[in-house]
Amino acid sequence: MLFRISLAIALTFLCGCSNAESDASLPISSTKMITLTYDDGPLGSGPRYSGRERTDALISQLAEAKAGPVAFYVTTRGLDQADGANRIADYAAAGHLIANHSDQHVRASLSSTEDYISDIDRAETRLNAFVNRRPWFRFPYLDEGGSFSDAQSVEKRDALRDALEHRRLLSGYVTVDTYDWHIDALWAKAVRDGKQVNMESLSRVYVDMVVDAAAHYDALAIDVLERRPVQVLLLHENDLAASFTTDLVVALRAEGWVIVHPDTAFADPIALELPETLFSGMGRISALAADRGMTDRETLDHWSVSQPAIDERMQIAGVFGPPTERELID
Ligand SMILES: [Zn+2]
Repeated sequence: MLFRISLAIALTFLCGCSNAESDASLPISSTKMITLTYDDGPLGSGPRYSGRERTDALISQLAEAKAGPVAFYVTTRGLDQADGANRIADYAAAGHLIANHSDQHVRASLSSTEDYISDIDRAETRLNAFVNRRPWFRFPYLDEGGSFSDAQSVEKRDALRDALEHRRLLSGYVTVDTYDWHIDALWAKAVRDGKQVNMESLSRVYVDMVVDAAAHYDALAIDVLERRPVQVLLLHENDLAASFTTDLVVALRAEGWVIVHPDTAFADPIALELPETLFSGMGRISALAADRGMTDRETLDHWSVSQPAIDERMQIAGVFGPPTERELID
């Protein structure tokens, strides 16, 4: 990774000598900026908290870390559960931003264009009840309709882009993708199986995953864009976030990251750089890399988006111990 950064910087300086007008002549900013975004809320009970407890804990972690405001991409079907709407209102009242993550959380590639757009509209209407709204829509599963790589997929992807533009909704792209949901699912299963959970190790794997992923996409951005866009971190409104956001923010800052307002992030020019490729599942920088022919595994793979690699890290860190004695007796 270090080699790739050095190479990119060297190339930038070389280009700069020959073409003073080009963007490449500008030195790459030394400031690394990132914004935090949380999808899928309001979610139900998790391995540690009820939904209500999670909201209170996450609000308090974000305040303690002085990391806000952050953006919540709300799945509005969750508003139907007890306290769901109150919890989103509480995030907004705490100063966080509220954006659209659909009503039913379906995959665009498995839905008709018409149904998909109706679902976006339904969510948008339901979100009108909240303050601190932003006109941003994030595709569930980062599926923009093009998963099958054929002409029909391109047509659907473009129709969805047109629909967003028509509604003046910005695509709430991500640039740093992680499988925090997988760690959360492993945690939930361990609790169901009565296993002991080493919270310190769990925090370490979660935090390392995000910090490593941020470094990966930072290096990739320098390779692909020859600059540092404001990074958009995809996380979920889960018990990991409610438990370890303070740890995460401390670790990001220790690596030189500045946590910025989501408005700053989505004002970055990358917001308007719509990739040609149908490959959207790893976020915008990966897609722009693919557009430039950078599709090798080394460029696009990262342990933060690999379930076996995450499983191995969890194993090595000894996150889950054997069932407690009481469970064994039971
Ligand atoms: Zn989602």
